Amino acid sequence: TKKETDFDPEAAAFWKPGQPVPFLFLASALDIISDESGRLAMTNILCNVFRTVIATTPKDLLAVVTLSANRIAPAHEGVELGIGDAAIVRVLTEAYGRKADQIKAQMKTLGDLGLVAKASRTSQRTMFKSQPLTCAKVLDTFREIAKDSGNQSQDRKRGRMKALLVAATECEPLYLVRLLQSKLRIGLAEKTVLAALAHAAVLSEVPRVPANQLTARLEEAEEIMKETYSVLPIYEKIISAILEHGIRKLPEVCNFTLGIPVGPMLAKPTTGVSEVLNKFQDMEFSCEYKYDGERAQVHYLQGGTIEIYSRNAEHNTGKFPDIVAAMPRCMKTGTETYVLDCEVVAYDREKNKILPFQVLSTRARKGVVLSDIKIQVCLFAFDLLYLNGRPLLKEQLNVRRELLYSSFQEIPGEFQFATAKNSNDLEEIQKFLEDAINDSCEGLIVKTLSKDATYEPAKRSNNWLKLKKDYMNTGGGDSLDLVPIGAFYGRGKRVGVYGAFLLACYDEDREEFQSICKIGTGFTEAVLEERSVTLKNHVIPQPRSYYRYGETIGVDVWFEDVEVWEVKAADLSISPVHRAAVGLVDPNKGISLRFPRLMRLREDKTPVEATSAQQVAEMYRAQKINHGHGGDADDDD
Ligand code: ATP
Repeated sequence: TKKETDFDPEAAAFWKPGQPVPFLFLASALDIISDESGRLAMTNILCNVFRTVIATTPKDLLAVVTLSANRIAPAHEGVELGIGDAAIVRVLTEAYGRKADQIKAQMKTLGDLGLVAKASRTSQRTMFKSQPLTCAKVLDTFREIAKDSGNQSQDRKRGRMKALLVAATECEPLYLVRLLQSKLRIGLAEKTVLAALAHAAVLSEVPRVPANQLTARLEEAEEIMKETYSVLPIYEKIISAILEHGIRKLPEVCNFTLGIPVGPMLAKPTTGVSEVLNKFQDMEFSCEYKYDGERAQVHYLQGGTIEIYSRNAEHNTGKFPDIVAAMPRCMKTGTETYVLDCEVVAYDREKNKILPFQVLSTRARKGVVLSDIKIQVCLFAFDLLYLNGRPLLKEQLNVRRELLYSSFQEIPGEFQFATAKNSNDLEEIQKFLEDAINDSCEGLIVKTLSKDATYEPAKRSNNWLKLKKDYMNTGGGDSLDLVPIGAFYGRGKRVGVYGAFLLACYDEDREEFQSICKIGTGFTEAVLEERSVTLKNHVIPQPRSYYRYGETIGVDVWFEDVEVWEVKAADLSISPVHRAAVGLVDPNKGISLRFPRLMRLREDKTPVEATSAQQVAEMYRAQKINHGHGGDADDDD
């Protein structure tokens, strides 16, 4: 792979057209990307990789794209590698003839088992040359590893990993190990993979797209790809459609499919009822209770099979056998196949009361047995995305809602429609918000009803606005979901656990984590200890290349980006130290949070789903408009 951004078919000269794409080709490209921090440069490099594959061995495009996206199968299939570091250490000892202690010691200095693997391979003399690895072979082996179970499967899995590592050369061991850990650590997000694939599709078209149309066509293709992936997140279908029909045909060929989860539509924060009324002037809208539980997309397939998907498209069916059992009872005659968008909440059926989110989070994640269930749940349905063979995404909310009401019946405490009110009267809405809070909800979600009211998969839409109770009391905004990237040693009582943490938001355009505040409060001793113990397993000797922070912060320990914390703060201010949203509000300064408090761990979010720099900037601006303050340079601590 060459670093130049122009496509060069010669780059692929070391394999012949039609022959399998060597894994080294992809690994080298990933290595080049790891030195880049700009999204544009990453997109270009990856686009060239994909173009080269399309021009030589298109049948391998699926494997190359899937590996680049750090996946082995679509999320909803639930095929996971699930390989722990201990297993990898053992494989490295076997593949490279090293002692486990040595490997662990080197892991401490290098901070990454992938780098240890690379170093081990380099210092090992090999007797004979193995067959070069190919992308297709690597992906196939990963799938075999993921699917193997039962008697002695651990041995077989290690055997397969060892075979890959023995055959690996140059930078291949590094990326093999990182892919096995499901973490590429080069700051490459799936969004970039999708953009690169879209560009490659346009640039590979025959006849070539005229130069004067190229920019527009690339932008159009990116948009098509994003939309297609949000309704049908399956590379296999998307890639075969691109190769056969071209990217412009994707919306016709790749559609919403029953049984495959669409990305959930998301809401934008607001600071009060008057902001909602301003934004939805002259629009018809509806306010719904915002339940504090867990998102559930319920697919009812032909023949009565039910699949329940989480916000991240994970299989949650095994967690809710009670919902599975209740579904047939809430369907009216004539309702055959459907997809419902809902929130599951823990529910006390005797007192007829919604229970806090924390109660729900005590339920096991899979394999729940109906007769063992102690915590009851109620499913609150707020949208209908598909009914009896008809996708409803493009219908307006009032149409979808009518169909929801006419196709289902409520079973109190088990299946209910989200409480809703159509009103544009400020006082009425304020009162409804208070009702929602008295009924143990977090607030309201206000949705457009009859215009600009289609379902927008995977989008944080301007047509859904959230109003939370905290806005009223504190005047502060929404909570933020942030990633701990570093820590400071504790003093006094807190010795042995960290004293404070450095949190970061995620800049989606630059694909980097940007520091936003130091946090030391809001923790009970137990939570502080729990988080410290977990994060100690993710200490790295150096900050990642995709971390941005002020040099004066003086972090004691760095962590990998592994978890997401929900945090509330008094307000946001311009900061000379932190780097959050730098360039978006002020050309050189970032934004920081004042008086941040930890609310909870967000187990349903991955680090790249943390609050984005763009959202931080929006929150800052909204705060300025609504409260007339913000903007004071803050010296942070
Ligand atoms: P975000 O990524 O949007 O910040 P979040 O998980 O922090 O998401 P909130 O911003 O608090 O969630 O609110 C959006 C979530 O609220 C939805 O993802 C959904 O799970 C939940 N929800 C509860 N009631 C409703 C409703 N009536 N309509 C839509 N979503 C609802």
